Amino acid sequence: MSRPKRRTNRRRKNRKNNPANNRSGFKKRNEEVIKEITYFDGITVNELAEKLNKNASEIIKLLFMLGKMVTINSAMDEELIQLVCLEYDVEAIKEDSEDEEDNLLANIVDDPKDLRERPPVVTIMGHVDHGKTTLLDTIRKARVVDDEFGGITQHIGAYQVAVDDHKITFLDTPGHEAFTAMRARGAKITDLVIIVVAADDGVMPQTKEAIDHAKAAEVPILVAINKIDKDTANPERIMSELADIGLMPEVWGGDTIFVEISALKGQGIDDLLENILVLMEVAELKANPNRLASGTVIEASLDRGRGPVTTLLIQNGTLKAGDPVVVGTAFGRVRRMNDDLGKEIKEAGPSTPVEIIGLNDVPIAGDLFKAFEDERKARTLADKRAQTRIESERVKTSAMTLDDLSQQIQEGNIHEVPVIIKADVQGSAEAVKSSLEKIDVEGVRINVIRHTAGAISESDLMLAIASKAIIVGFNVRPTAAIRKMAKEEGVDIRLYNIIYKAVEQMESAMKGLLDPIFEEVIHGQAEVRQLFKASKIGTIAGCMVTDGKIVRNSFVRLMRDGVVIYDGKMSSLKRFQNDAREVAEGYECGITIENYNDIKIDDVIEAYGEVAVERE
Ligand code: GDP
Repeated sequence: MSRPKRRTNRRRKNRKNNPANNRSGFKKRNEEVIKEITYFDGITVNELAEKLNKNASEIIKLLFMLGKMVTINSAMDEELIQLVCLEYDVEAIKEDSEDEEDNLLANIVDDPKDLRERPPVVTIMGHVDHGKTTLLDTIRKARVVDDEFGGITQHIGAYQVAVDDHKITFLDTPGHEAFTAMRARGAKITDLVIIVVAADDGVMPQTKEAIDHAKAAEVPILVAINKIDKDTANPERIMSELADIGLMPEVWGGDTIFVEISALKGQGIDDLLENILVLMEVAELKANPNRLASGTVIEASLDRGRGPVTTLLIQNGTLKAGDPVVVGTAFGRVRRMNDDLGKEIKEAGPSTPVEIIGLNDVPIAGDLFKAFEDERKARTLADKRAQTRIESERVKTSAMTLDDLSQQIQEGNIHEVPVIIKADVQGSAEAVKSSLEKIDVEGVRINVIRHTAGAISESDLMLAIASKAIIVGFNVRPTAAIRKMAKEEGVDIRLYNIIYKAVEQMESAMKGLLDPIFEEVIHGQAEVRQLFKASKIGTIAGCMVTDGKIVRNSFVRLMRDGVVIYDGKMSSLKRFQNDAREVAEGYECGITIENYNDIKIDDVIEAYGEVAVERE
């Protein structure tokens, strides 16, 4: 895609330099010149034609001349739109699709006097096996005391604990993948990051990554040195390692709080919670509980009996049972609302995680939500948002068919494997996505065009067909009907229940897609014993094969005293007067080298070839 873009820019510049460069026929029929139009992603050929005051057929023809096949209803991507507009010398300006209403959080401005303190929202990150899960479980068990529900550990993606007369909300998905995925979707939900470091291990790659993510998000960091119950624990070392990378402990005069804990033994947990409150007191976290609720989706899945089940983190306002809500592109009424223990509640305020049912579709983690007074308004907005999302998928789809993928691969610069991920819950879809996107096979990348929770549907197949995508199912099985259809349409469905298996298989598939890498193999060596000059052929080297074999048409290196003085191609290999395919060790042969005659007695000719090897 980069080639036409460059052209676009150059032509645009020319046009700017030369305002008189306005061709006839680019005028509106009523002779008024259209200089500017606005467009949105996914605008169809017909819609664009209307804006340009042209016939759609004219645009189709124009694009055909430029090598792009479109129909009247084809969705156009940005580049195509710009290309057409350039031809007509019209400035194309992209419409801002996010009007105020559309942006579910931005239009909230609260009067400071309405604001009340809200609990901090905390995420735990750190290297694998340093104790994140254990810490989350220990805090939960130690703090969630409820007669009726105490024994049940139900994970909804977040939970809240009470510390004195304050509360703290923990996001129950450890690791920075979830954090980054949410942030990538524009969600800002964490007030504090706890970096867990095992005292017997030290600062590891994921520790650093987690710190980088927290810093990039400008979220304060608190360090929990874990596993101090172990004999091999060395908290001082952790402190100095972290000080080296910019987290100076408070006790050493810096401003990062370090707490020593044993997540397993429950040691230091109270201290940790107290410190969270102290640290968060300065942040003065506030929200207005007396307004319609808004916030972010933490987790969503499809439950056979209950339909879409969604965990929301309320970030502002109060959500009430029965409220109409827009959640991403889904909408509905809050039919039932549970707290983090599975207990039904009627309303929930800022920083509270709740599980709701009643939506018409499964939203995506990181989606924003907003409650409305009026159900009609909610439905209209949800429809509009769904339409925008479909349009952006439509663009991707048509882009894939327009620029034939394999052709792109052959052209060498875009090696792409489109993938659709379907998983049991949104969390795993995100995890599979981020793992697959990490696969690094030289020059080829995975492009996840859809990743949602739910069964593999007909719409997934359609998208896969249109974009030549592979479907990756994680903990889901296609129905017999879908399986049959996929087979008929040649859609590749791969099912996994372990992420690394998916990564492994995709990786080898990607290797297969690549042009092979060539590796050198040495066939053998021959010593030059005699020289014959032939006027038509040049210098013929009479040789003795001293090692391996000499193969016709191979590459050759001419070496003198161990130094390569020429590297090129063999032009002929003869045994006596006859052409030979190969000559083995211990036999004599005559060799000529393409475009090279300066061969001397005692030179060594090395014959070598190239073989395709699998990429690492
Ligand atoms: P995660 O990968 O960071 O979530 O780590 P886990 O919570 O799964 O813990 C990894 C291992 O470390 C498990 O075997 C835990 O039992 C163990 N572990 C976690 N915290 C402690 C601790 O404070 N002390 C000791 N001795 N072991 C711990």
